[in-house]
Amino acid sequence: MFRRIIDSPWFYYGLAGLLVVAAIATQLEIHFPSRPMGTSEEIAKLRERDDVNVIFILIDTLRSDRLSSYGYDRPTSPMLDALADSGIRFDRVEAQSTWTKASMASLWTGLYPMRTGVTRFRHALPQEAVLPAELLKQAGFHTAGIWRNGWVANNFGFDQGFDLYMRPHPSRSAHELERRSPSTHPLLGNDFDATESAIEFIHGHAQERFFLYMHYMDVHQYLYDQEAAKLEFGTSYSDAYDSSIYWVDRNIAKLVEDLQETDLLKRTLIVIAADHGESFYEHGEEGHAENLYREVTEVPLIFSLPFAFEQGVVVKPLVRNIDIWPTLLDMLGLPALPDIDGQSLVPLIEAAARGEAESDDVEEAPPSALSFLDGSWGTWGEHERPPEPLLSIRKGPMRMVFRMDDPKSGELFDHTSDPTEQKNLVALREEQAAGLRQESEQWVSKPIPWGDAPEVEIDEMHVNQLRALGYLRDE
Ligand SMILES: [Zn+2]
Repeated sequence: MFRRIIDSPWFYYGLAGLLVVAAIATQLEIHFPSRPMGTSEEIAKLRERDDVNVIFILIDTLRSDRLSSYGYDRPTSPMLDALADSGIRFDRVEAQSTWTKASMASLWTGLYPMRTGVTRFRHALPQEAVLPAELLKQAGFHTAGIWRNGWVANNFGFDQGFDLYMRPHPSRSAHELERRSPSTHPLLGNDFDATESAIEFIHGHAQERFFLYMHYMDVHQYLYDQEAAKLEFGTSYSDAYDSSIYWVDRNIAKLVEDLQETDLLKRTLIVIAADHGESFYEHGEEGHAENLYREVTEVPLIFSLPFAFEQGVVVKPLVRNIDIWPTLLDMLGLPALPDIDGQSLVPLIEAAARGEAESDDVEEAPPSALSFLDGSWGTWGEHERPPEPLLSIRKGPMRMVFRMDDPKSGELFDHTSDPTEQKNLVALREEQAAGLRQESEQWVSKPIPWGDAPEVEIDEMHVNQLRALGYLRDE
């Protein structure tokens, strides 16, 4: 057994990783989690348990290819890697928009953005929308949301079902953080405030069954501490982005360590997800919410179960953020979201664990993945501007990006030979492009369950909070 371990290259990667981590972790130490061991057969038994908590961690603006567990060559994410190595990692995941509000509305409801109707500046989720927190609360969970992004604030309807829905107070924490650039409206505090609030919540509710939603923002803000700076990734925006991933990873490590100490890890399901990625001039832009290319739509997804697998399960077929909650509710034996576009991935996870889901063609996998962005969403003070609906459909290795209101527009990419989407094949493969466009129609033509999304007034305080994210132009 030991010989098998020391023969494995993972042993040496792990050892090297531990040494690096031991050398650099001072303010926030990383202790890797230990849980009872389990097998994939035990996934089905989760439905019968009534003691499993859920911690849903959303890392804003995290593209998957910057995590070491997704093949990145920098050690940005030791804790996420540890969770993936003993849990379930989804290899290819599409977010449903590249702008937080639209993406999160889809993630929570299991509906594509065209079907939530939450696509523009003032749109909100109505009371008729059913959110997972409501189902969990009805099932007896104590529910809390801790968030630092104004696009998921109460006024946009994202607080439905939460007993507590709060922005953490900026603390006087000792963490000296590097900031990418000064701002006239800085986003106050940092993700350690959120971590501290989460730990406080967990300690107060350790005897109850709870659901905790954390929405981390420091990757969006490119914020990182001195320990991350010691990794010397460099000083470009892209380097600062990597450093901030390391800082947020250590915040998650702090949370996991606390769950270990309070003996809650063996009855907690932890999910790591992201609302969209970030571009670094792959297609002429820096940032997100501008287009729908792969660097802004492909995100990580990791499940850490209340037990550990000896070897992590990797789900290779393409999946979507709208599948996350149908999957979690199915896994926990809870009522399903109504009228969804997403699907439970539990059969796909079980097939992957058996080694039977190597390609997108397996019947358990979603048929395709759509993303949507209204290019006029953020036009501040010009809300009469007409919509600019941009859609992408990804199926197998192909992805088509096009304007929905322009039949002649479109870019077609083949990830087999062009993983960064640089060569537009639309003129060479007209039939394939038309087929993908047609396939997207069946989803686009479905009605919004609650009619149009309501519009809300946004007061000056909220406007300043949104400005702090860098979304709104100063007038
Ligand atoms: Zn976001």
